[in-house]
Amino acid sequence: MTGSVAQPIPLHERHFSALALRLYAECPLRFRRRYVDGLAIPGLPDDPEERRAMLQGERFHLMARRYYSGLEPGTLGAPADRAELEDWMQKLVRYLPRRPGYAYYPELELRLSEPALRLVARFDLVVVAPDGEATIYDWKTLRHMPPRAKLEAAFQTTVYRYVLCAAGGAYAPGGAFDPDRVSMVYWNPLRGGREERLPYSAARFREDGRRLRQLVAQILATPPDGFPPTGDPRLCARCEYRQLCHGPLADRPLPEPGDGWPEAALEPGQEVPVEDEEPAGAFDADPDGLAGLPLP
Ligand code: SF4
Repeated sequence: MTGSVAQPIPLHERHFSALALRLYAECPLRFRRRYVDGLAIPGLPDDPEERRAMLQGERFHLMARRYYSGLEPGTLGAPADRAELEDWMQKLVRYLPRRPGYAYYPELELRLSEPALRLVARFDLVVVAPDGEATIYDWKTLRHMPPRAKLEAAFQTTVYRYVLCAAGGAYAPGGAFDPDRVSMVYWNPLRGGREERLPYSAARFREDGRRLRQLVAQILATPPDGFPPTGDPRLCARCEYRQLCHGPLADRPLPEPGDGWPEAALEPGQEVPVEDEEPAGAFDADPDGLAGLPLP
């Protein structure tokens, strides 16, 4: 295991991303290692298929960014990879072509800086219609998309919709987005290009604000020794700190509960959550290789 320790941003100065909140909810100790201790363990997944899938996802994001910036998407990767990427891009352009009168903001990063709530979100794409209706798009290239209920409950959905409405006024024709006219869409070319659309609402916006403030206050009030480890071995099996927590044998096949590991906290059959993305610079050290871990 190789890693590095960076001087972390103090928690009370940090803008929390959806990923940071999810890591805290899943395993407070993992959150502490990453955001309090500043311990970075970079690297791509060991499994070649997983590694290729992650790289293809990154390439697709770059091509989509180019397209919605008004540029040629271009081609990337080896010939076999290019064919797949071009197929994905064709599906995307058919699904969501650039339309006159609409504003496209690829890779838009927004920060909410309230005294009690500092959040950051980097959107794959925000599209604003001439009448002010806004859609947040997130590209997923997972083979197995989580069910709609899991996407609805994901920190990514909560943080992205909330931040756009609370901090995206500069991009709204009327100076502020109306939560009742905001949606988040997950789109995956591997699912036949079908979208999963999650409309927002003013009531949900208020409730999200309350919950996010409560969660952030809880994190900020936690002493350094108050971040316990998860009790779920499935989370540990995919965690970059597993050797630190469980020793070098932690890379062995996933053990059964009771095999020296804590009891699983997830229900049987419950999936490890979908991944979301860490905005550039949100993690003080090198975040590469961590964003691909399977999370809400
Ligand atoms: S190995 Fe498990 S307990 Fe340790 S930080 Fe990772 S998820 Fe938490």
